[in-house]
Amino acid sequence: MDLYFRDEHRMLQEMVRDFAKNEVAPIAAEIDQNERFPKELIPKLAELGLLGIPFPEQYGGAEMDTLAYTLAIEELAKVDSSVAITVAAHISLGSYPIFLFGSDAQKEKYLPRLTAGEFLGCFGLTEPGAGSDAAGTKTTAVRDGAEWVINGSKMFITNAGYAGTCVLTAVTNPALKGTNGISAFLVETSTPGFIIGPPEKKMGWRASDTRALTFENMRVPADALLGPLDNGFKQFTKALQGGRISVAALGLGLAQAALNAAVKYADEREAFGKKLYRFEGVGFPLAEIATEIEAARHLVYHASYLKDQGKDTTQAAAMAKLFATEVAVKATQTAVQIHGGYGYIKEFPVERYFRDAKILTIGEGTSEVQKLIIRKGLYKDR
Ligand SMILES: Cc1cc2nc3c(=O)[nH]c(=O)nc-3n(C[C@H](O)[C@H](O)[C@H](O)COP(=O)(O)OP(=O)(O)OC[C@H]3O[C@@H](n4cnc5c(N)ncnc54)[C@H](O)[C@@H]3O)c2cc1C
Repeated sequence: MDLYFRDEHRMLQEMVRDFAKNEVAPIAAEIDQNERFPKELIPKLAELGLLGIPFPEQYGGAEMDTLAYTLAIEELAKVDSSVAITVAAHISLGSYPIFLFGSDAQKEKYLPRLTAGEFLGCFGLTEPGAGSDAAGTKTTAVRDGAEWVINGSKMFITNAGYAGTCVLTAVTNPALKGTNGISAFLVETSTPGFIIGPPEKKMGWRASDTRALTFENMRVPADALLGPLDNGFKQFTKALQGGRISVAALGLGLAQAALNAAVKYADEREAFGKKLYRFEGVGFPLAEIATEIEAARHLVYHASYLKDQGKDTTQAAAMAKLFATEVAVKATQTAVQIHGGYGYIKEFPVERYFRDAKILTIGEGTSEVQKLIIRKGLYKDR
């Protein structure tokens, strides 16, 4: 993989690896079991520059590229998926749309506080009746003098309970068909009428914060609009492309962690007088997964590289997300199987890895949605 990396990438990788080993690994099982959001890690992540990796120094960011960001998420995910998604959602979903589409005033006001970890950022797109199909968005924003009045609700919003800002989508022009009348807004979570629900109880990512939001006659100033009016769908499509690469990186890191655990266990455990890995029924699945992880790694790094070159990553990000997250599901399932009964109890981390993997094929566009995007690319002239 030296093809892709420079010294600064390797240094960042080393730094995140040390952080994950020293600060995250010791609490990973506990925060999962207690469904506890590890807020004590936020200042530490900020101090290392990990809450602002791709943003300019002017806004307190580390001014590094997508490859660097990908590596950081991969390293965190090798140890704890909840911490990895907390950072990924904060950067790709909560902060990146502000960087991409915000006015100078919005960027100057919020990005330095987001990169400094004063609060996290969140992103509200999904609604009770609109996930894959954003055209079903029911939240509305109606102009009233110098303000917008927002009503509606959002589901499954990562970091919502610890966020100071929320980028959300709302219908601003119901007369326009499909997704054309949707706009994005940047609102402070302390705004009256911004109601944050209790944390959801989840199968995996149990130490990440996921909540429903309700907006009740929430009045925000006219300049809370993020980017041009009625352009929200195009904006979040672009933001999600970056988000998908980071979820793919999460899959890559988690799959690698599962493989490492399974390789180790199959070398330690014996049955019928020999080490497990010497049975083809154990060694061959390990070989297959190792190969698929290597393929996923190329897709993920290549999508990151293309983004850094300013190329269109629609297809590359969808392929990386589809493949790497499905590999993560397969790798974690195989790791549990190779651990036998011990894979099913909490003493071994593969049980947590298995539960953390499934959401990766659902969040930020399901596997089916990635296939829709890839298919569209195959027929783009028609
Ligand atoms: C833990 C967690 C964190 C999340 N964080 C956020 C967040 O921070 N912000 C946010 O906005 N959202 C977030 N989400 C929401 C997530 O992105 C959505 O759940 C996801 O996009 C799927 O939408 P849905 O749940 O409405 O499922 P649906 O869209 O109802 O899909 C249900 C099933 O139908 C399939 N399907 C739908 N349409 C098609 C089609 N055309 N062809 C084939 N199959 C189809 C889907 O692939 C899926 O299998 C989060 C979800 C979870 C669980």
